[in-house]
Amino acid sequence: MSSASPYTRSEDLTHFIGGKPVAATSGRSQAVYNPTTGAVARQLQLASVEDVNAAVAAAQAAFPAWAEAPPLRRARVMQGFLQLLNRHKDEIAAMITAEHGKVFSDAQGEVMRGIDIVEFACGVPQLLKGDYTEQVSTGIDNWTLRQPLGVVAGITPFNFPFMVPMWMAPLAIATGNAFILKPSERDPSPSLFIAELFRQAGLPDGIFNVVQGDKIAVDALLHHPDVRALSFVGSTPIAQYIYETGARHGKRVQALGGAKNHMVVMPDADIEQAVDALIGAAYGSAGERCMAISVAVLVGDVADKIMPRLAERARALKIKNGMEPDAEMGPIVTREARDRIENYIALGVEEGAKLVVDGRGHRVAGFENGFFTGGTLFDQVKPTMRIYKEEIFGPVLVCVRVHDFAEALQLVNGHEYGNGVACFTSDGNVAREFARRVQVGMVGINVPIPVPMAWHGFGGWKKSLFGDMHAYGEEGVRFYTKQKSVMQRWSSSIAKGAEFVMPTSQ
Ligand code: NAD
Repeated sequence: MSSASPYTRSEDLTHFIGGKPVAATSGRSQAVYNPTTGAVARQLQLASVEDVNAAVAAAQAAFPAWAEAPPLRRARVMQGFLQLLNRHKDEIAAMITAEHGKVFSDAQGEVMRGIDIVEFACGVPQLLKGDYTEQVSTGIDNWTLRQPLGVVAGITPFNFPFMVPMWMAPLAIATGNAFILKPSERDPSPSLFIAELFRQAGLPDGIFNVVQGDKIAVDALLHHPDVRALSFVGSTPIAQYIYETGARHGKRVQALGGAKNHMVVMPDADIEQAVDALIGAAYGSAGERCMAISVAVLVGDVADKIMPRLAERARALKIKNGMEPDAEMGPIVTREARDRIENYIALGVEEGAKLVVDGRGHRVAGFENGFFTGGTLFDQVKPTMRIYKEEIFGPVLVCVRVHDFAEALQLVNGHEYGNGVACFTSDGNVAREFARRVQVGMVGINVPIPVPMAWHGFGGWKKSLFGDMHAYGEEGVRFYTKQKSVMQRWSSSIAKGAEFVMPTSQ
């Protein structure tokens, strides 16, 4: 953390409203843990409805001038923010590891993927260029432009405390809106560092605000008439609630939900590559990624070849304090989340799945109170089992054996989630058929975690996304702007007299 930052102190974490840290008025607070040690690191002040109202008022007051600023000026502020992020990226990564637990190199990757989107937002003059048609009728021109919505809000999950806010805020702000972030209560520190860097970059006060809080803060945002749009990323039940409640209150909503991502391994796949991919994608970030692979679909004789290798690698995972240079997996974010994951493992055993590697009860020397669990591997999992159907969101890989490609595809398409999917094969026809037929929003061919780049946009299908538009990319620009069409003519081309018929091109 930079010495210039006000967030090095061990004081409570607060809101950031109107360009400065602001204490909550609710009198409520909640502990933020260091999951590696299990100790309470900070207290987080939680918002009251009045705090949210104050943030919306600050954003609403700042919006008109910012919306008036030429896109190039807004882009230059974004470029300043980008430079500061690049300067401080390792501090942000360390902050993520301290509160989330993921290993430092993985946190660095998260920060870079967030920075990608800031770079995309720097191109906002091009993104807002609009379309123009000269002479749609004699003497008449027509063009479309995109204008900002006003105050917009983002509600984000614990698993990417920097990257997911970057899916939202840079594009919302570059397109001329004022933004309110309600980050996860579990790892809120990056949100305040983002606010400080925006301030240092010259963003006007009130254009980026942070309200810390829980359901009370979220509901206040959902009900506030001045909040025009809400972006949400988190679990499916909450995503659905946000989508339905936001829509009922007349807001534009994109709500990205949970996942159960399958990786199909065909008999012609390179087995070594598939093992590496499964181990990294199932246990990286302790499986707490919405694009983690949590189901391996093993086609034909793949299971017998791959299972011993998977078991060996899952047992050998280097599970440590995420700041250790060779750590491959850190702790789970909270004790409750760790217990929920271990309860799922017990459930899988009860349901009759074969527990090949049991990660329960894993302890790390020197960090006995940390929220660790080991990598878990199940074989012989059936599609009727809850460990197959439900999102566990931890380092638990379930393997389902199928006979052929058709059965694999049917299994994937039958699942209620449709976030990410992968197919490992050396056959181009199989790959093409898979990409065309699979009912999932983001597809990897020999790529286990196909998170789209900044200019492509991120979003799942089915219960993994409620709303019409994906996050970031061009859909992100559309989400944070409304289209206006202007048709223009000047007097020399105006026809004489009133016209009572539908105008057509003349
Ligand atoms: P969560 O749904 O518990 O919380 C997400 C946000 O919603 C937080 O800011 C939280 O404060 C708020 N929230 C929680 N309960 C609420 C309630 N009852 N009413 C209103 N607001 C509430 O999710 P999480 O545990 O922080 O994150 C993990 C989940 O997020 C997983 O399901 C994961 O798949 C999903 N996720 C999805 C994507 C995606 O792009 N689809 C990306 C990252 C994470």
